[in-house]
Amino acid sequence: MADYLSSVLWTEEEIEFRKQVREFCDKEIYPIADEIDKGSYPRDLLRKIGQAGFMGVHHDKDYGGTAKGLSYEIIVAEEISAANGGLDMARMASTTLFGMPLKVFGTDEQKKKYLAPVVKGEKIGCIGITEPEVGSDTAGMKTRAEKDGDEWVLNGEKRFITNGSQADYMCAFAITDPSVKSKDGMSAFIVPTDADGFSVVKDHDLLGMKSARVSWLKLEDVRLGSEMLLGEEVQGFRILMDELDSERTAIAAEAIGYGRTPYEVAVKYSNERQQFGRAIRAFEGVSFKIADMAMKLEAARALTLTAARMYDKGMKITKQASIAKLYATEAAISITNDALQVLGGMGYTTDYPVERFLRDARLMTIGGGTAEILRFLIQREVYKEML
Ligand SMILES: Cc1cc2nc3c(=O)[nH]c(=O)nc-3n(C[C@H](O)[C@H](O)[C@H](O)COP(=O)(O)OP(=O)(O)OC[C@H]3O[C@@H](n4cnc5c(N)ncnc54)[C@H](O)[C@@H]3O)c2cc1C
Repeated sequence: MADYLSSVLWTEEEIEFRKQVREFCDKEIYPIADEIDKGSYPRDLLRKIGQAGFMGVHHDKDYGGTAKGLSYEIIVAEEISAANGGLDMARMASTTLFGMPLKVFGTDEQKKKYLAPVVKGEKIGCIGITEPEVGSDTAGMKTRAEKDGDEWVLNGEKRFITNGSQADYMCAFAITDPSVKSKDGMSAFIVPTDADGFSVVKDHDLLGMKSARVSWLKLEDVRLGSEMLLGEEVQGFRILMDELDSERTAIAAEAIGYGRTPYEVAVKYSNERQQFGRAIRAFEGVSFKIADMAMKLEAARALTLTAARMYDKGMKITKQASIAKLYATEAAISITNDALQVLGGMGYTTDYPVERFLRDARLMTIGGGTAEILRFLIQREVYKEML
């Protein structure tokens, strides 16, 4: 990012922190960025990320975090995603998707036991919302949790769960009161994945995000003590909505990372590649693509930082997080696609990482709320505000 822009948008401390994350990525991730996608689940690397303090910037000091806030989490998300998308998806699913519901709604005991090891990178978390029959319409959830004495008994299936087969704990949403609308009868639970009745149906074979694992899970008579309820009974939908605001902001930052590296590659390549006796950047068909990429990256960064700053001030960010995620994710898809075009045939090879980022970026308008659902949310907030 240009220095003048950097110092306008970010504090000195944030700029210094970004340098630290970038140094870590230069040393630990970039040298193996392509290989991570071909290997086993990067648990050791996630542990290193935790040890470096990059799992806990938005978590409280009592649980191993540094309590800096979401504006720091979006720096980590962008920097690691600029190196390898699936790696950050795994990191973020653990510390933000699993971590934020615990941070906001967990008891001290739950945070000590289940959040602190995730912040250290020693344990892995995941979030279980989506089901085979339930995607965008989360209120249609089928997974049930029934009381049996002091225990809860969970039954259902969760699909497309990032880290699912690798996680130690899942924050799972289930219906506890089927007699009311599911929004009013949903609760959240911490499910240890070694519990009897928890099983992995399969890991999905994905277009991109090869370094992460995304799984189909089954809960069959999983028995949990009452201390595994997160927040209050039937508070689940509120927990879910709160989590989605931070998740969408962090996903927007990841999308900036996916766009940034292909953009940088395309700038360099278009300056070096000669055709018709000149560098291809001399052709507007190429250089105007670079202009569009630069514009989209800067706009996405400003929108994402706005949402993060508002969240850190305790403001409601449903509209801002949706706008940031929608804009940044559509930008990431168009930037990676244009960058591949600028590289011509070389872009379609694995000699350059652009094809990997294009495959990773394609997920971004689906996971964490599709582009269609985000447009629905944004217009709903606009009409609420204006009329
Ligand atoms: C790689 C990956 C990782 C994921 N990780 C997780 C995770 O960790 N935890 C988790 O719980 N989930 C996860 N998900 C699930 C993800 O959040 C869902 O895929 C997403 O919410 C969409 O649900 P769906 O796939 O069932 O699509 P559907 O809801 O079936 O939608 C299909 C299409 O219909 C459109 N549509 C649906 N309803 C409307 C409407 N009202 N208006 C307009 N269009 C509509 C959608 O926009 C979409 O284009 C992941 C998914 C993927 C692919």
